[in-house]
Amino acid sequence: MTLAPDAIAAAVKAGLQAALETTGGANASYIPYLAGVPSGLCGVCAVTPDGQLFEAGDTRHGFAIESISKVFTLALALEQSGREAVRAKIGARPTGLPFNSVIALELHGDKPLSPLVNAGAIATASFIKASGREDRWSQILGCYRAFAAAELPLSKEVNESEQATNLHNRAIVWLLASAGNCFCDPPEALDVYTRQCSVLVTCAELATMAGTLANRGVNPVSKTKVVSPGNVPPILAEMAMEGLYDTSGDWAYEVGLPGKSGVGGGVMAVAPGKLGIAAFSPPLDPFGNSVRAQKAVRTVAGALGLNLYAA
Ligand code: GLU
Repeated sequence: MTLAPDAIAAAVKAGLQAALETTGGANASYIPYLAGVPSGLCGVCAVTPDGQLFEAGDTRHGFAIESISKVFTLALALEQSGREAVRAKIGARPTGLPFNSVIALELHGDKPLSPLVNAGAIATASFIKASGREDRWSQILGCYRAFAAAELPLSKEVNESEQATNLHNRAIVWLLASAGNCFCDPPEALDVYTRQCSVLVTCAELATMAGTLANRGVNPVSKTKVVSPGNVPPILAEMAMEGLYDTSGDWAYEVGLPGKSGVGGGVMAVAPGKLGIAAFSPPLDPFGNSVRAQKAVRTVAGALGLNLYAA
């Protein structure tokens, strides 16, 4: 059943209101750039499969996509290599541990298990078939732009901030490499992964990216096929298992939609066939998920009855 435009508009407005009434959390501080983003920014958007955009709040402010990028690099890997190869090389299981956990690698023979934790995302970036570093990067950025129907920029400032401080991820890429689970030159994999995290998106663009997944892989705005319909379910399955880090189970319990968050303060969720939802606000809970963006998405999904587990 198609959602009524008035109902979506009201839900998005209610989502912003609920988010603004929510307090707590703190900007990510381990990446210097993110610590300095104004904490009061807050926006909510939704995009329908026929390309209608609904928005409330700070929906045109560009923020760092961070971990949400992992979903779209996964999409490119699936398009290039197919689901069984991606599953065999990277994995399709929740780690149950924080997004940057080294213990998770140690416990599983240095195999990342999920493309949505740092280790798995670095491995996925390395698994993209490319002729070299710049080709790898331009394919990944091109894929994100196709998902957004927008010329998403790489932020020089965010990238420099992350490249200078990504020591933990450097350790992860070498652990991957030590077990044969990095599929290109390790510094190249880390560089490209760090760049992908440093791409700026607005809430409106992120909702279009989510809307592409909600629309069987066809961008609702540009009408271009970005990912094969058959590759959408495994992407959504990964999001359901690991999209909100170690609180993915709580998210499934409360919202019932595949979602993905990033430490830049973004959260997106996908209601297949119905809606792409995105929200943004920088302060994070202890697990790395935006406190207000979670509240906004949860409110929109609740108001529209989008829980996939409800009849
Ligand atoms: N660039 C961040 C990192 O690698 C992304 C993490 C995230 O958003 O969860 O730590």
